[in-house]
Amino acid sequence: MTTAVADVAPAAELPARPARPPISWRTAWPFLAIHALPLLAIVTGVHLRDVILLVVLYWTRLLCITAGYHRYFAHRTYRLNRFWQFLLAFGGTTAVQRGPLWWAAHHRRHHQHSDDPDDIHSPRDGFWWSHIGWVLSGAYGETDYDRIRDFASFPELRFLNRFDWIGPWALGTACWLWGGWSALIVGFFGSTILLSHGTFTVNSLAHRIGRRRYETSDTSRNSWIVALIAGGEGWHNNHHHYQSAARQGFRWWELDITFYVLVMLSWIGIVHDLRPVPKRRLPAGAVAVPATQARTATTWAPAATSDELTWRVWRCCTLSDGQSVPQPDTRLTSPSPPQTAAPARRNPRGRC
Ligand SMILES: [Zn+2]
Ligand SMILES: [Zn+2]
Repeated sequence: MTTAVADVAPAAELPARPARPPISWRTAWPFLAIHALPLLAIVTGVHLRDVILLVVLYWTRLLCITAGYHRYFAHRTYRLNRFWQFLLAFGGTTAVQRGPLWWAAHHRRHHQHSDDPDDIHSPRDGFWWSHIGWVLSGAYGETDYDRIRDFASFPELRFLNRFDWIGPWALGTACWLWGGWSALIVGFFGSTILLSHGTFTVNSLAHRIGRRRYETSDTSRNSWIVALIAGGEGWHNNHHHYQSAARQGFRWWELDITFYVLVMLSWIGIVHDLRPVPKRRLPAGAVAVPATQARTATTWAPAATSDELTWRVWRCCTLSDGQSVPQPDTRLTSPSPPQTAAPARRNPRGRC
């Protein structure tokens, strides 16, 4: 049974937020132009195989984003060897959502600053800003390597991150060679648009609609509709409550396609060490870090203080319960060991 809890703080208590940059038409036009391309289906026609391709490309690329960019690169909720890590990263680039290091670093910032003034896609700046405005502004194109040092130590990931256009161009070309113009227009571009908005709903709708089971210090919510669209990512309040678990649907009835796929991949030895949700984190209404959350939620402290507090929350919830953070399987790693090969860290206190 879901127990809804109140939102974190009345809007009247919140300080004014910084003005967000306007849309940069110079950088936004290619993404906007892609939205018009499916209209060319009037010319190319639509075949059954194009629709099948659209569905296949939506779900395979969605899983590269949800299981790869999000649950692996941003949160390290399971372990892969270096080959599969690279393949997942390359698959993610085909979704036209930039490189894995850029994506994961921005997402770690979202969790560190959820809905505070340094969260770059908070719905507190407006629904459309959180959904797509921050992308179209062109103001956040740089990769913050300090936030993703663990994976930035792999040169092949830095390569994919820098040349993130290779994946989309390769996939688009393959679609054209396989099925002609209609496959490119409907299968590739059609699924790319749907996939973009499908994943953007996690930033926008999953912070606006649905119920709040846990008293997190942000506006995250559990939404069935987003869970269906985004492969289980709609259980966003669960995820903000405990972000280190491979699953986001905490109850048996909370459909989490991404997690089911990860479990199946673990059966055949591709995925290792799926991190569970500790039992003590499951009860509805539980507060992960009461003292810290209360301070951030009710006072919305100045940025410096908020930075320190939210970072402590992130570290605490990531390294809590005595679990080690999963490290990439180094059996296939390069001769020079990356930082991630260092001994697993543990929360010295073992609690929040
Ligand atoms: Zn996350
Ligand atoms: Zn969120």
